[in-house]
This record gives sequence, structure tokens and C-alpha cells, in this order.
Amino acid sequence: MPKLGGYTGKILKIDLTNRVAKTIPLEKKMAMQFLGGRGFNSKRLYDMISPGLDPFSPDNPLLIATGPLVGTMFPTASRFNVSSKSPQTGILGDSNAGGHFASEMKFAGYDQIIMVGKSNSLIYIYINNDQVEFKDAAHISGKDVYETDSIIKADLGDRQIQTLIAGPAAENGVKFSGLFTNLMRAAARTGMGTIMASKGVKAIALKGTGVIEVSNPYRFEKIVEEIEGEIYNHEQYWPRRKMGTTRILLMANEAGFLPTRHYTQGTFEYAEEVSGERLAEEFNVKTRGCFACPIPCSRFYVVREGKFKGHYGEGPEYESQGSFTSRIGNRNLALALKGNDMCNKLGIDILTTSECISWAMELYSKGMLTKDEIDGLDLTWGNEAAILALIEKIAKREGFGDILADGPKAAAIKLGKGLDLTMQVKGLDLIMADPRGLKGFGLGYAVASRGGDHLRSEPFLELNDDPAIGKKMFGVPEATVRLADKGKGKLVSYFEDWNAVIDALEPCKNIMQNMEILTFERASEVIEVVTGMKMTASQVRDAGTRINTIERAFNIREGMRRKDDYLPRRFIEEELPSGASSGTVIKMDAMLDDYYTERGWNRESGIPLEHTLLDLGLEKVSADMKKYNR
Ligand code: SF4
Repeated sequence: MPKLGGYTGKILKIDLTNRVAKTIPLEKKMAMQFLGGRGFNSKRLYDMISPGLDPFSPDNPLLIATGPLVGTMFPTASRFNVSSKSPQTGILGDSNAGGHFASEMKFAGYDQIIMVGKSNSLIYIYINNDQVEFKDAAHISGKDVYETDSIIKADLGDRQIQTLIAGPAAENGVKFSGLFTNLMRAAARTGMGTIMASKGVKAIALKGTGVIEVSNPYRFEKIVEEIEGEIYNHEQYWPRRKMGTTRILLMANEAGFLPTRHYTQGTFEYAEEVSGERLAEEFNVKTRGCFACPIPCSRFYVVREGKFKGHYGEGPEYESQGSFTSRIGNRNLALALKGNDMCNKLGIDILTTSECISWAMELYSKGMLTKDEIDGLDLTWGNEAAILALIEKIAKREGFGDILADGPKAAAIKLGKGLDLTMQVKGLDLIMADPRGLKGFGLGYAVASRGGDHLRSEPFLELNDDPAIGKKMFGVPEATVRLADKGKGKLVSYFEDWNAVIDALEPCKNIMQNMEILTFERASEVIEVVTGMKMTASQVRDAGTRINTIERAFNIREGMRRKDDYLPRRFIEEELPSGASSGTVIKMDAMLDDYYTERGWNRESGIPLEHTLLDLGLEKVSADMKKYNR
């Protein structure tokens, strides 16, 4: 095929059982239909996995893909997706991270890495441009993420090498273990680290010296300059640079959707004490950015007084900040920093870890767990010693931690209690925004292809609470009013498609989506300038729809139906007791009908209809879906 700009044109396939690696070419049709990153992974997962496959089977592939913008100077183009069948949820697993790993992977010459099989001993993989080596990792078995990074760089005699690491929790089989790069950049959700460790791989080390060429360098430079100007002049530039996403916490509290004490409240009386503003003033010392990013939103902190005096690290972002403060009833910001850092070192997903702890605390507060069942811990809201002890116990699979290490849903089933109090959808635990205060976000969690999570849709326009935007964009004023139910099908499907395009091209959605920079129209121009592929804005959106649809089809094959697209009972039946989002619940049925209609899916089952699949060029998927009750 004629060479496309942006892509390396090569995919690295690694057979771990036989320890061989080869490259296969990237097909232009794949690039046109699925763009890159998450799109490449989801298409390949659908093709490679037979329904019902055990996630721990050697046949379950682990896929790492990045996008055509990465490795160029396109602002924030630094991200990659890692995907597999999830050990935590049993459906499509996928996670995304930034840093410098993705650009190094492009410089080494690869758009995607496919790992299949299983090594018979613990190894790490060293990819140095076109050389792939399988290196013994016995000496780093059980080492934490930071130690592993340091040892591998010393072994290879190169501090510039990029690493992607599974922590000790992954080696212990904790089902929500992530993969970590640049120490704290985490592809944390859905257990991708668990899968890599189960394949006998502790880490991947990467070195690349190539360059990424774009199709039209002159126009590319102009677009980069234009977008950088928009970013620097944006009203959110300095708040984001100073606080990253931690600036959200006070706003969520004021709007009454800050999950507090396991979603029993939407406001936290100590919000000021754990806010991004306080973090910036009293703890932060410097910032850091991902590859090609003009907004270095990550922050380094030092704890200057108290029990954790001297502790230092990087982060947190809003989800982790809220996870270890309001969600578990903790008012000590330093404790939250310590807990975050422990999770990063041990290699576990902070959101699920916090759900484990806050779910157990709610059960304890209701007298549903006895001290005997929880190793004698005192799980009173915010108990510092118990919080830190539980993190360790989960990572080591010790005592009560062993029960929690499969995730709260599995723990509830095992204990035979508290299942309807787990705050998860399809086995993935919810994030730090109470859906009763953001109805579109709620629908997004319910239908997200990797389970209860906001990053598939994140319809942030709801935060403006402005009906004029909804009317202009979707013809339904309520679509962008956060407490209204109408029009959310249009809102969520639009944002899902937009996010899928960004996850495929792989810049940072914090900037490109949340600051409304890489619209479908802009993406159409950028794709042509970078790759040479001509796609209209509507064809770009189709690519996003195609990615979401094939992910839906993957989950349909695994048994997911409309019944699985419901939020936890609490959000449907119980109103928040106080705050600016009280007095309302989620009306799932009407919102799901609306969403399926928008998507062209069967309203009873949630299965994509034949004409929807054929319109998207998904003929094989259409044939497959005929097997399921339609
Ligand atoms: S905005 Fe933050 S997370 Fe996004 S690319 Fe820049 S530094 Fe990375």
C-alpha cells in the first residue's frame, strides 16, 4: 500500500510461549476504519477472541496500540491503549495512559504490539528498535513499580529507556492490577497488569530512535501552531497547569455530586481540607508533562508536616484524590497522598481499591461485617490505619484482602452479602461523580463498553447546565442540563463517538475533548495532514461509532444485554439526602430506550441491528450477531 504518514506501518507480534517475535504490516483498510489506538485494539480483540474464552488462557491476547498523531509534535499526542479480555469483568478490558512510552514505541517502529501465549518463567521484554529480547526477570519478581523501573534501567545501562510495568499485586493475581509507565502514569483499569503478569511478563522496556513523518509537513506545522495558540489562550490553561483535574473536587462538592462515604452523600463537610486548591498551595513543588504536551498538568508534592512528613511523590489527579478522601470519609490529605502512592507502587487501580475499602466501610457501618471477617480491622469511615492496612492486604492477597482482590462484585458474591451495595456496572467500579447529579454521565457509565466508567463518554457539556447548548447541538435543551433526563441518548452517543476518535488518534482527551479543540471537523483536517487519508467529519464520526459498535458486539458475544446496562439500585431508588443534587434519582428505562434508538440497537436486547452494522461496513459482525436472539 502507499505509505501513510503518521503510522509506522508495522505491528509487532510476540509469541511468548515460543519466544519469537515478527512484524506484520498495517493494512490501510484497518487504518481508515479504526484509525489507531483503542480502535485497532478493539477490532483485533473481536477478531482474535472466541466468545467465552478464559481471560487467563494463553490465547487471550494482550494488545498495546498507539495512534497516528503520536511521535509527532501534535500537542498532547502521547497516549496508548492496552486491551485484553478483562480478568476483573470478563468482558472487554481496556485502559489508556500517557507519558513517554507511546512515543518511544512509535520511534521503535510500531503502531501496535500483540502479545500471545505464555512464558514458562518470569521475563521482561526488551525492544530496541527492530531487536526483541526475552530477558530473565527472576531478580525483579515481587519488586514494586519504582524498584522495577530502576533495576531494568540499570541492567540495560540506559536511563532514557521507557518501561511499562506490572507491580507485585499483578504477580499475586489481584484482578484489578494495572500497567505503569514513567512510574505513575497508569493504565490502571480492568486488570491489564494482571493479564501481563499471568503471561509471565513483568515489564516491557523500549528504546526507539526512528522518526515519524507526516504527510503534509507545511500544513501540519500551521495546525500545531494554531492549536498551541488556542491552548495557551484558553481560560482553563492556568487552572489546569496549576491543579490538573484536582480543581474539580470543590466544584463537584458545590454541585452536590461528590461521592462521599460510598455514595451515601453528595457533599463532604471537609472538602476544603482535601481540595486541589489546598494541594497546590501547601504540598505542590513542581509540574511535569507528557510527551509533546504544552500543559504540564502533573504535579510533584512534598508532605511537610504531620505523620507523613517527608513523603513525596507525583499526582494525584481528581479520581485518585477523591477516591482516598470523600469516598472513604477521610479528611487527611496527606493520608490520601500516601494511599495513592502505595497503590501506584503496588500496581493496583485506585478507583477499584477505593471501592473495595468504601464498600467494606459501608457494610461495617451497617453491621453487615463483623471484626472476625475483616481480620480485626476497625473499618470506621476514614480510619487511617485500616485504610493503609487494607491496601497492603489486597495487594498481597492476605486475609480479608484476598476476598477483595477479585473486586467488590466478586467479594460480595463470595461473602453472600452486600451485592446491591457494590457501586459497579458490569463488574467495573464507578468513578468520582455521583450519577444522580449528572444524568448523562450516569447513562454513560451504564452503557460504557468496559463497564462503569466515565472515560468512554464524559459528556462534560452537562457541567455547563445550559439548555441553549443542548438545543443548538442536539435539538433538545435538556440534553445539556445535568439534572434532566431527556436527550441523554443523543448526548452520550455523540460523546462516545468523539472519545473513541480521540482514543484512536491518541492525544490527551483532557485537553482535546474537554477544551473542545479536536472536534470531528478538526480531526478530519488533522488526519489528512498527518496521514494523507481523506475523511470527512462525518466519516471521522463513523469511525468512532464503528469502534463503539464493535466493542458492544464483543460484549454481546460474552452475554451482555440490556439487563446489564443498569446502574446500581441506590441511584435508581434513593435520593441524595442533601446538597445541590438532592431530590432526584436516575430513570434508567427511558434513558436506555433513547440511547438504543440513537445507536440503532434493538431496544429489548441492546443488540446492534443488522442495518446499523452493515452501514458501518461490519459485515462479519452482522453475521455473528444473527446467532444471538434478535
Ligand atoms: S494535559 Fe496532563 S495528562 Fe494530558 S498530555 Fe498534558 S501532562 Fe499529560
